[in-house]
Amino acid sequence: MSGVHVGIDLGTTYSLVAVVQNGEPKVIPNALGELLTPSAVNVDGDRVLVGRAARARALTHPEATAVSFKRDMGTDRKYELSGRTFTPEELSALVLAELKRDAEAALGAEVEEAVVTVPAYFGELQRRATRHACDLAGLHVERIINEPTAAALAYGLHHRASELRAVVLDLGGGTFDVTALEIMEGVIEIQASAGDTRLGGEDFVDAMIEHCLEWLATERGTELADDAVGRARLREACELAKRRLSDASETRLAVSGLPTSKGKLDFELPLSRARLEERFQPLLDRMLAPIERALRDAGRRASDAQEVLLVGGATRMPCIASLAAKLFGRLPLRSLPPDEAVAIGAAVQAALKAGDSAVADLVATDVAPFTLGIATAQKLHDSLVQGIFSPIIERGTVLPASRVERFCTISNAQTRLKLEVFQGEHARCEKNQRIGDFEVRGIPSGPAGTEAVDVRFSYDMNGVLDVDATIVSTNEAHTFTIERSAGRLSRRELEAARARLARLKFHPREALPNVTAISRADALYAELVGHERAQLGHALAVFRAALESQDPKLIAQQREALLAVLLALGREALK
Ligand code: AMP
Repeated sequence: MSGVHVGIDLGTTYSLVAVVQNGEPKVIPNALGELLTPSAVNVDGDRVLVGRAARARALTHPEATAVSFKRDMGTDRKYELSGRTFTPEELSALVLAELKRDAEAALGAEVEEAVVTVPAYFGELQRRATRHACDLAGLHVERIINEPTAAALAYGLHHRASELRAVVLDLGGGTFDVTALEIMEGVIEIQASAGDTRLGGEDFVDAMIEHCLEWLATERGTELADDAVGRARLREACELAKRRLSDASETRLAVSGLPTSKGKLDFELPLSRARLEERFQPLLDRMLAPIERALRDAGRRASDAQEVLLVGGATRMPCIASLAAKLFGRLPLRSLPPDEAVAIGAAVQAALKAGDSAVADLVATDVAPFTLGIATAQKLHDSLVQGIFSPIIERGTVLPASRVERFCTISNAQTRLKLEVFQGEHARCEKNQRIGDFEVRGIPSGPAGTEAVDVRFSYDMNGVLDVDATIVSTNEAHTFTIERSAGRLSRRELEAARARLARLKFHPREALPNVTAISRADALYAELVGHERAQLGHALAVFRAALESQDPKLIAQQREALLAVLLALGREALK
């Protein structure tokens, strides 16, 4: 068995794994035969469920299920699931481990290495957290690439011969990235990227929930009860309605027995796309700043773009295509399925890294998406002003990059220099994100301004930073790794986390179709009333009896029958 190199799109809502075989990229199906695996984790005792079954259980067991944890990567947030505590990295690791198992089962080979994608605008802490998640999942990952760069590679694969100036707009579940790039004879040059890590499809759902709550308050004089299941059901109904409104201009949002302060309410609300788009306007407006910044950094105007590529599930909303058409004066292109482009590009990068000759003519260059620098103090009119941001690597610098800046002592007999590293675009450090603190010691004592330290920032292709400092007069060098970061684990902590995850048992792959069918049916059962509910209840009971029988043929037959009922009822929860 020789090892394979795969690409993984670790998304906020869905994750995918893809591979290049015989020069052709393809997304690998999971144990259910589906290409998109929901980034959801459910814990039931010491068993873990990942993917669609977990996504369905978010409705029936919200206290035991985590979704959208990618948004918390690099923070100290903890998730409590069935009495166990997880970090966002650990939850991501469970998703990655599941994708690895899926790839290995489908390809009949071990995954030797993976290329994993992150939003371009992910900062230092979020990238390091992603690396930890890969470590925890036992995935060997040397390259992390930016999602829009991956999308560009996927398009580049099909536009090898063309010369093209393009803009990629990537609106996923939780993040928005804009990338200006140029494709020329297989060379994909990323010119600039910008983004918003707190803007994605989920925010549009939040806006819809707000709309529903206002309607409840004004039309029914009540409010949603403080009930996790009720909230999860309303969210799910909004998510489904949002998707329906991508194809239709009107829909109906219905939640039966919604718990409110006045008791259970059969909630029903007609929605029109036009009306909702008014509500979405502030979110659409927020997309403009990163677009303008990316164009400005690339030295381009909107009208220069020859193609606008839409990536990410949320770009299926017609208002996003209209926004792009208005801004760029051309209809955006969607020749690859928007939710697959990133995974395909990651697989192309993995093949490139593995030296696959089928893609050897492709090259992608990337740039730093934000500025990195340190805090300095300056004497101005006899007073010392602290916290001035001194950039070392500016955004838009082509990667890999290494830059040195020299900093002099500012007081007499100063033997130490504190290096506080920040990321961001503000002149004041406190407005930027602090990503690490280091101290250079052993500077020879002397009058202010006579000693100096050269600080070098090296920013690798993964967008991960290394810092070293040399005392100029003694040539003494110090190398630092970012240790202070939130979510950063020591080797011991990493081992402990890995051991803790290893104690959790995954559901066996062969059981997943059954567990998923039951979880989906349970979630829909909670939604339905009357005849439909009875019909589903019957199919569920028959399937459960088949499971008891342990007869594989009967189980498969009754599972199909149950799935057919789910399909026929047509009100099913999300994939
Ligand atoms: P991604 O992270 O790229 O998979 O994007 C996921 C986001 O796309 C989620 O917020 C979904 O709600 C959204 N999405 C997926 N399909 C649709 C659709 N048909 N219409 C609107 N939004 C969608």
